[in-house]
Amino acid sequence: MVFTTLLLGWYGDNGRDLPWKTYKDPYTIWVSEVILQQTRVQQGEAYFRNFISTFPTVRHLAEASVDDVLKLWQGLGYYSRARNMHKTARKIVDEYGGMFPKDVESLKKLDGIGPYTASAVASFAYGIPAVALDGNGYRILARYFGIDLPLGSPSAVKTFRELAVSLLPEGKSADFNQALMDFGSLVCMPRPLCVSCPLADHCIAYNTGLAESLPVKPRKAGHRTRYFHYLDFGQDTFTFIGQRKGNDIWKGLYEFPLIETSMPATYPDLIRSERFRILVGTSDYVLNNTQALKPHKLTHQSIHPVFYRISITGPAPNLEKEYKKVPREELSKYAVSRLTEKYMNFFHNFAGL
Ligand code: SF4
Repeated sequence: MVFTTLLLGWYGDNGRDLPWKTYKDPYTIWVSEVILQQTRVQQGEAYFRNFISTFPTVRHLAEASVDDVLKLWQGLGYYSRARNMHKTARKIVDEYGGMFPKDVESLKKLDGIGPYTASAVASFAYGIPAVALDGNGYRILARYFGIDLPLGSPSAVKTFRELAVSLLPEGKSADFNQALMDFGSLVCMPRPLCVSCPLADHCIAYNTGLAESLPVKPRKAGHRTRYFHYLDFGQDTFTFIGQRKGNDIWKGLYEFPLIETSMPATYPDLIRSERFRILVGTSDYVLNNTQALKPHKLTHQSIHPVFYRISITGPAPNLEKEYKKVPREELSKYAVSRLTEKYMNFFHNFAGL
């Protein structure tokens, strides 16, 4: 796999020299991973050294009072991390005889250990072929492979995980995971250093100008998904367009007659709708072409557009009353959204229509 070869090649020459990398025991790895979860490396390093010298083993941590642990954690924030570590240390001593479990699923059952930390501990301490994907890993994979799924969505979690598993080099999961973290911290950062990146030749985001647009951020609450069904009614060499009104996107721009639904709908659904029947009246009509375009993403909404080209014969008084009948060759004179423009460009380039 080219990606893995290039990444490990880079890591061999450029991997970071961090204090916790020299440790191979699960306890120390766990401590470093939890500290680094919401803390920058520079700040975390001093806390890590202090923590490990105060509580050198899981037994020392289990025997301490939670107040002592919190005191040591002071200033680091997200104090539930310290409380969870203390609980987990006691559980490991009481239920596992002081030994960390060796499999990801058992590790995930411990307080404060999620999929990422469990995989990091399993791969770094035991060499288990587990993928530890953090923000760095998602960012690199999304860009290199051009994946535009919103992070955090179930399909994204599945896609990234399966992809990362397929890229894992045999017997080198620790290096692979560490390489992803270091590469994401030093090269493929939120503002990536593509010009000096050894992966650039094969990176889809870089080669399509999308490096800074990927990964796609998680959808925020309140994000709206809308389904736009545009009806491009052709009558001889004419079509119908209208101006958008109301307090909504694209106000004042022109577009084809639109039926919006809150769920996906098929053409038979549309022709059964009251709105469609009002528009076509008693005319005859025939569907010539259906063109679904890629979802159109706006700040707080995604539009899923489908354009239907329909030939209509006979009178359609409602259509004529509500919309402007314009010669097709004059469509380009009207201001339209980028979405409608895309369809119109496609239309002009599509010989079969
Ligand atoms: S070329 Fe740019 S976007 Fe692609 S992997 Fe390298 S740094 Fe990241």
